[in-house]
Amino acid sequence: MSPWSETAAALFAGLQPPLQRLFRTREPVLLAASSATGFAEAAIRNGVPRRLLVAGGGFFAEWLAGIGEACGKEVVRARVPAGRAVEPDDLERALTRVRVDAVALVHSETSTGALAPLEALARVVHERSDALLLVDAVTSVGALPVEPDVWGLDFTFTGSQKALALPPGLALGVASPRLLERARGLTDRGWYFDLLKYAEAARTARPTQTPALSLVYALERQLGRIEAEGGVEARWRRHRAMLERLERWVAERGELAFLAPAGRRSWSVSALRPPPRLGVGALVRELARRGFAVTGGLGELEHEVLRIGHMGDLTPAHLDALLDELDGLLRV
Ligand SMILES: *Cc1c(COP(=O)(O)O)cnc(C)c1O
Repeated sequence: MSPWSETAAALFAGLQPPLQRLFRTREPVLLAASSATGFAEAAIRNGVPRRLLVAGGGFFAEWLAGIGEACGKEVVRARVPAGRAVEPDDLERALTRVRVDAVALVHSETSTGALAPLEALARVVHERSDALLLVDAVTSVGALPVEPDVWGLDFTFTGSQKALALPPGLALGVASPRLLERARGLTDRGWYFDLLKYAEAARTARPTQTPALSLVYALERQLGRIEAEGGVEARWRRHRAMLERLERWVAERGELAFLAPAGRRSWSVSALRPPPRLGVGALVRELARRGFAVTGGLGELEHEVLRIGHMGDLTPAHLDALLDELDGLLRV
């Protein structure tokens, strides 16, 4: 007999309505004890029989392509320079060149701060092909508009530790009926990341393996706080206000520059080029001494950009305090 209790079943069933409001979906929200990487692998194993197009530029676009290759898929790239977002034209050209089973892309590229115009990209994918669209929404769900049902996203996933401001260890995702239909026909879905099992678990409030209960309780608590703030839309507004605050500050200082162009900047994370006289490493160290956690770039951008996260439970007041310190450091 399974030791699954009524209490746990009630906990899982009760999570669905606020999770569906967070993800803006009528589909069940799938939960796994894994970091977001698990659901990236799941998206590919359950959605790609053979060929995958990865569109974008930056550390996490490369990461998606690497997962596709490690899962034995044929990966085709539509690369854009780091800092630029993939545009509908880029995607249209790539889809004309090659027939693919799915397109994967990163909505908010955490390594560059570039935000892909996801609604327009989804339109291109569905008008120009019958490919599924798999979306890394790790730093977008909960921070800025993502509409899986309305835009036709076939898998939309995130992890607990970024925009949701929870401890790491949970992956959350939404699968379209098309993706689950595709998965039914694939024989190498594996076991742990078989999305059909997660969909059944969400429907019946009975996980197929031991859930990370402590994290699930934390999620329940955080969903309550999100609803108390005014729901996901209030969260979007707060994130947008932080980006605008940072844009104004950068414009006033004139010494730093966003890597991503205006209109294509993530509301949750920014990558800034500091002036040549100030090294990224020194800025990160000095800010850490003052109690602020910012970081350098990822991969080849390591020494090029300063990355500032303005997501989760952070507020414009937190950002102001950081900018005051940065002002001091820039003055020397
Ligand atoms: C952090 C991050 C990931 C990886 O998530 P894990 O939870 O570490 O597996 C993937 N994509 C993006 C855009 C991220 O920011």
